Amino acid sequence: MSAVIGTVVVAAAKSPADSPAPAPAAAGPAAPAGPAPSPLPAKYVVLTFDDGPDAAYTPQVLDILAKFDAKATFFQVGESVRKHPELTKRIHQAGHSVQNHTWTHADLRHLGAAAFRKQITSTDEAIRAQTGSTPACVRPPYGGVDAAVRQRAKAIGKELVVWDVDSRDWKRPGTTAIVQRVLKQVRNGSVILMHDGGGNRTQTVAALPVILKALKAQGYGFRTLTC
Ligand code: ZN
Repeated sequence: MSAVIGTVVVAAAKSPADSPAPAPAAAGPAAPAGPAPSPLPAKYVVLTFDDGPDAAYTPQVLDILAKFDAKATFFQVGESVRKHPELTKRIHQAGHSVQNHTWTHADLRHLGAAAFRKQITSTDEAIRAQTGSTPACVRPPYGGVDAAVRQRAKAIGKELVVWDVDSRDWKRPGTTAIVQRVLKQVRNGSVILMHDGGGNRTQTVAALPVILKALKAQGYGFRTLTC
């Protein structure tokens, strides 16, 4: 559904590694030994799936991601979250990030201030009810950003996130074309746009394992966005 307007990544991937380490506890018993948290990959991509959740395709995408031990960020449409809240919950419980893609997949450039706010906050509420946390990232449908959209997003504490690699899977160009488009453009830190909802995503589902296998073979890990 999303079309390429700009290809600038508004927000770079952030991670706990960007924050200062917490100070060690001054006293008290030592923490029990356990498995060390897995380090964030130095060479990585950010996989993003837009326009879900979708009853047919989202579960398939989740199964493939699990098989490759890859985490992704899902930019969800509020009215679809309302239809399939259990899928939003499942995505969150599997360790993926769930973020905001407006309530009706609206082009934010065409809205007044009140309608803009409603699109974002009602989607926040639907997602928060399933995940327990409020999305800080907003992906503007169609990549539609202008000065007013930027200013309004900032005013409610949201970061706008687009992409630099567009699979153009929504055009259904064939599985091979989707795979090649991603692998040709990808570089360290890329934000890759794919879709798990909004139409027939059979080609996306078919392309995903091929893409993940190739990225892993090239040494890429996977980071998620929380803004
Ligand atoms: Zn979209």
